[in-house]
Amino acid sequence: SNEYRLKAIKEIASENATGVMPAAPANIDFYGEDVFNAEAMRTYLPKDICKKLFATIDDGAPLDPSIAGEVAHAMKKWAIDRGATHFTHWFQPLTGSTAEKHDSFLEPEDGKAILAFSGKNLIVGEPDASSFPSGGLRSTFEARGYTAWDPTSPAFIKRHGNGATLCIPTAFCSYTGEALDKKTPLLRSIQALQKSADRLMGLFGVAPQKVTVTLGAEQEYFLVDKRFYLQRPDLYQAGRTLFGAAPAKHQQMEDHYFGSIPSRILNFMNDVEKELWKLGIPAKTRHNEVAPAQFELAPMFEEVNLACDHNMQIMEVLRQVADRHGLVCLLHEKPFAGINGSGKHNNWSVNYGKTNLLNPGKDPHQNAIFLTTLCAVIYAVDTHADLLRMAVASAGNDHRLGANEAPPAIISMYLGDQLADVVDQLEKGDPKSSKQAGALKLGSDTLPPLPRDATDRNRTSPFAFTGNKFEFRAPGSSQSCSEPNVILNTIVAEAFDIIADKLANVPADKFHEELQNLLQKIVKEHKRVIFNGNGYTDEWVEEAAKRGLPNTRTTMEALQALNKKENVALFEKYGVFNKRELDSRYEVNMEDYHKKIHIEGEIARDMAKDIILPQAIEAYSAALKANEMALNQGFPALDSYAKPLGEGIKKLLAAIEVMEKALASKHEDILNGMLDLRLVVDSLEKIVPDEKWPLPKYREMLFIY
Ligand code: ADP
Ligand code: MG
Repeated sequence: SNEYRLKAIKEIASENATGVMPAAPANIDFYGEDVFNAEAMRTYLPKDICKKLFATIDDGAPLDPSIAGEVAHAMKKWAIDRGATHFTHWFQPLTGSTAEKHDSFLEPEDGKAILAFSGKNLIVGEPDASSFPSGGLRSTFEARGYTAWDPTSPAFIKRHGNGATLCIPTAFCSYTGEALDKKTPLLRSIQALQKSADRLMGLFGVAPQKVTVTLGAEQEYFLVDKRFYLQRPDLYQAGRTLFGAAPAKHQQMEDHYFGSIPSRILNFMNDVEKELWKLGIPAKTRHNEVAPAQFELAPMFEEVNLACDHNMQIMEVLRQVADRHGLVCLLHEKPFAGINGSGKHNNWSVNYGKTNLLNPGKDPHQNAIFLTTLCAVIYAVDTHADLLRMAVASAGNDHRLGANEAPPAIISMYLGDQLADVVDQLEKGDPKSSKQAGALKLGSDTLPPLPRDATDRNRTSPFAFTGNKFEFRAPGSSQSCSEPNVILNTIVAEAFDIIADKLANVPADKFHEELQNLLQKIVKEHKRVIFNGNGYTDEWVEEAAKRGLPNTRTTMEALQALNKKENVALFEKYGVFNKRELDSRYEVNMEDYHKKIHIEGEIARDMAKDIILPQAIEAYSAALKANEMALNQGFPALDSYAKPLGEGIKKLLAAIEVMEKALASKHEDILNGMLDLRLVVDSLEKIVPDEKWPLPKYREMLFIY
């Protein structure tokens, strides 16, 4: 197979860059053309029905079942006008990906057929989805789950070469109403936050308004040429390389980050964006990331439920368009050891009506609301660091968190110098005295303007305040955005309630004084979670330990948060998960973790045995022959060449044997076995003749495209 590797390089070398597009007016009229959005609804639905549907979508009014038939009819008409012959309920099972089971609109009639789609087809589905993991929530005799239309996320059309399918975003539940998916808890958590925000804002004299949680999810990914990818069973089976010696040059020069984007990649990005824009997904930013062959796509922020759905679509579009360009998009958190991994920065904020609660306001009233929200988040993140860590735990992310170039597994918050100073003042301030030098008085002071430019950004913090939102940087590149936001919404709902509880009976003239006392107390008790320094250093790890902040390095440990009594109580109180749902998630995630490790272990063993070993032996026997010939000719033996190969083979055989045993043992042994095997294979890569090496090398995958 080594010849294929060299052939791929030759082919890539002979491919010409595409020409440059002639100047012509750009056009974005197609934006949203594959979404059943407000405009499509207005076109295809009678006015009164439209109004009812908008009330459900915009104000969360319960769906009037009597309109389902007409909505379905309009949606079908719209979809078939755009070429769709099939529809599917599109949902997000606990596997972490999306699921779809297509039905055609076909209905036979008198030997011919018509295209039909009923209200019932729209509202509920009963996929025979018994093979999805449910962590014991469904025993097989009650295996069926059902899907329920989520009208707040618009239906869209997915296209492929010769057809199109109408996709209807749905929640996926068991017949007993338990969540079997990632969307249901998210919707519940938004409701929880609405309730708590109403209570807290009421105390500030703000009339009830709709809570809109916003999410902007920055998506990092790698691209490699498909020809290399297909020669790496580890990549196409596990999504990451299990072997590969560090190339001389990787990211040391930091010359890739924000560098000029190669034209093959730009063509890919353009096509991705076109597809996303058709789907009404507001792709906005594109750039080279830190590692070679690593890139990022960021959409503009949207309502969190929609943004989560959109992120799932973004990942799919990235993969599919890459394929059309002869590339493969790697969404794994750590496809290449030793260079940066990929994350998904979760930019999160809460709006009450039109006001972003994390926007430091212009007047004392808005300032007080901002600081209260800020302190609520500080309280929540410190108190529930375990849940945030749990929400980003996966086999893939274990390779990233805590490595030297990702946010550490310690959850801390970065506020920036100026806001840290404000919080400092809050802590020191004495609300009873009149304004002291440097002390902030809630209800009468305004805040100094906080900088929002990128220079004030600390990129090493897992949870950073960035002007008017928090950026949670620990989520992994391949994971659904749902979990992190379910947790954020729930823990902040609780923090709002705790603050509201304390202020509920305070007379109006004492409100700001009491609020100040309370925020001061929160800062005092929870400021340990605030850290403005470099989160990638060993000093921080030590310091964090002194502060008593948990440093949860592995998925196994992190998932324990799902079992803690206080966490079960929290989720039950807010109606986000019941105990059975939490247990099921624990089980599903644990199983997923163990399966992945085991699969990787087997891949590593197989590759070592049937790809690396034969090639190393061939190189060794060639070396021995050369040695013999040299001796016959009266030249000194070529020991320094042959010997390391022989020794490498010996080590390889031993490591394979250890791996073999590890596979029958516990997962720590598998992980260690893989590390040892990798060391041996990677050192062989450095001594086996290049033309004989069977696997595309790091330097090739990362630099040749
Ligand atoms: P960067 O972090 O790369 O410097 P930005 O902070 O400007 O860039 O934007 C990152 C992401 O944050 C984008 O997806 C953007 O839409 C999103 N974002 C901006 N404001 C908000 C907000 N209020 N709520 C949620 N996301 C936001
Ligand atoms: Mg960012």
